[in-house]
Amino acid sequence: MKLTNEIVKDVAVKTGFDLAGFTEADELSGETEKLQAWLDKGYNAGMAYMERNVEKRRDIRNILPGAKSVISLALNYYTDLEHSNNPDLGKVSRYAWGTDYHYIMWEKLDRFLKELKDIDPEFEAVSYVDTGPVMDKAWASRAGLGWIGKHSNLITREFGSWVFLATVITNYEFSNSGLVSDHCGSCTRCMEACPTNAITVEYVIDANRCISYLTIENKGEVGIEFEGKLEGWLFGCDICQEVCPWNIKFPKLTKEEKFHPEDGHMELNLDEVASMENGEFKKRFFRSPISRAKLKGLKRNADFLKKH
Ligand code: SF4
Ligand code: SF4
Repeated sequence: MKLTNEIVKDVAVKTGFDLAGFTEADELSGETEKLQAWLDKGYNAGMAYMERNVEKRRDIRNILPGAKSVISLALNYYTDLEHSNNPDLGKVSRYAWGTDYHYIMWEKLDRFLKELKDIDPEFEAVSYVDTGPVMDKAWASRAGLGWIGKHSNLITREFGSWVFLATVITNYEFSNSGLVSDHCGSCTRCMEACPTNAITVEYVIDANRCISYLTIENKGEVGIEFEGKLEGWLFGCDICQEVCPWNIKFPKLTKEEKFHPEDGHMELNLDEVASMENGEFKKRFFRSPISRAKLKGLKRNADFLKKH
C-alpha cells in the first residue's frame, strides 16, 4: 500500500510522537548561509564539528541520493516541576532530567520506520536525532512544526519549545505541510532575560557566552567574565525558554514517563559533585544526558558556582 501524509501522521502518533510535518527535500540555501555567517563569527566556540559537512547540511540529497521529502517529528518532554533555587544545589536543564532523549527517540523512531516499511516496502529513510550533518530545527520549521524563536529554539504552537526533534529523510514524495509564521512578534523577553547576553541579536546565539555551551560542551575553563552570571546553572540553562510566553501560556505534560526526573537529577548538590568519584558518576548518569559533560566538566561547573 502507498503511504500518505495521513498514514504517516497516524503511525507517528501510534509510535509515541506528538507532531509530524512534511517538506520537500530541497536545498537549505538561506539556512546554510546563516550557518556560515555564524561560523565565520566564531559563534560555534569549541564546537568544531559544526564546521564539517556544510554541503551535506545544505543539501541532504548528499546523504540520501534521490531523497524527495523530509518528515520532521517532535516529542514533548515538559514535566510540571520547578527547581528549588537552593544555592547549595546546581540546576540541571529540563531536557536532562530523565533518561537520555536519544534512547527514547530512537526507540520510537525504530518502530515508526518499521511500521512504514511494513506498509510499503519501497519506503527508504535515513534518520537523525540531534546528531549528524542535519539541521533538525531548520527542517522542523520548513515542515511546519513551528518557527525558530529569537532564542534560536524551535517553538511549536502546541508544546512551546519543550520538544525533541527527529529528522527523517525519505525517498517518498509527501505533500508539504506548509510553514508556520514567526509568532515572536515584538517580544524580546528571552534576549532581556539572558544573563550573559548570549543572544547577540535576534535569532543569533554566541555559544562562547551561552551557559548551555559553557557548562556542557566546553572543554576549557568558564571565564571569569561570567562570575555571578550563571544563576545557579550547573548543567545547561533554560532561562530563555522559561521566560518565553509560548512556554508559559500553554504547558502540556509529556506523555513519556521516562522524561520524568530521575531521583536527584533536576538539581545536584554542589558538594556531592565536588567529591564524586568517576565510578559513581558513571553508575548514576550512564543513561542521562548529564554524562555528556563528563565528571571533569561537572566538577568544574560546581567549583565555579561555589566560588562565584
Ligand atoms: S541558554 Fe541561557 S545563556 Fe544561553 S542564550 Fe538562553 S538564556 Fe542565554
Ligand atoms: S521569549 Fe519572545 S522573542 Fe524570545 S522566543 Fe519566546 S516569543 Fe520569541
